[in-house]
Amino acid sequence: MITGEVRLWKMTRKQVRERLATGKVKGAILPTGSTEQHNEHLEMEHDTASALHVSHQTALGLFPQVLLATPMAVGISEHWMEWPGTLSLRPETFFQVAFDTCESLARHGIEHILVCNGHAGNGPLRNEVAGFGEKLGIDIQFHSYWEAYTKEFVAEHLESGDCPAHAAEFETSIALAAFPENAHWDGVDYAAESFDIQNENYRDQDAPYHFAARDLATPHKGRIMIDTAVEWVTARMTQMMAADAK
Ligand SMILES: [Zn+2]
Repeated sequence: MITGEVRLWKMTRKQVRERLATGKVKGAILPTGSTEQHNEHLEMEHDTASALHVSHQTALGLFPQVLLATPMAVGISEHWMEWPGTLSLRPETFFQVAFDTCESLARHGIEHILVCNGHAGNGPLRNEVAGFGEKLGIDIQFHSYWEAYTKEFVAEHLESGDCPAHAAEFETSIALAAFPENAHWDGVDYAAESFDIQNENYRDQDAPYHFAARDLATPHKGRIMIDTAVEWVTARMTQMMAADAK
């Protein structure tokens, strides 16, 4: 596989200009994540890091047809603001940043943009992107990377059967596989009930998530989840770009 730099923010203007001049660039992936609490053991960047990881692997595999746009690292996280460290955009702000980023890409000639999402709270963007595409005259789709998994697949590979559960077996496995330095177990005592959160927008208790993260997550599961997501996102992106051929 011939591949090279696909991350827009790691390229010089010369490199971008020359890549675009080949006429081979058909699409871009825009990862969307969050900066929010991920229980006691995972870093706040998890959703951004996981969406970026899946997007990056996909763009590398599709080199040189796809560029990777700078990830949106703050999402819609009002529901976790009780936990210090969480950052949140109002939905309309989030939509606007996404639109302006898509518009920038469109102005550089990108015709297909796949928004690859890693944070469930960003879901409302799904309903906005068709309008974005119409305004900009390009093709934009929104997908959370876990759309790759069928119910059967989740039941087969995750013992908790729960995906995308917050900071539990699924997300912790992804971290252990892709960025293990983001899992911090020192001094974390999930047996203590001192950090239970009362939040009506979320499930009643965190305890099952703590248990799933600590006792069920493995790098092996994470690799399976990542590979399957990359394969799925690659298929979506390929399908989007093939629409040109008509
Ligand atoms: Zn998350």
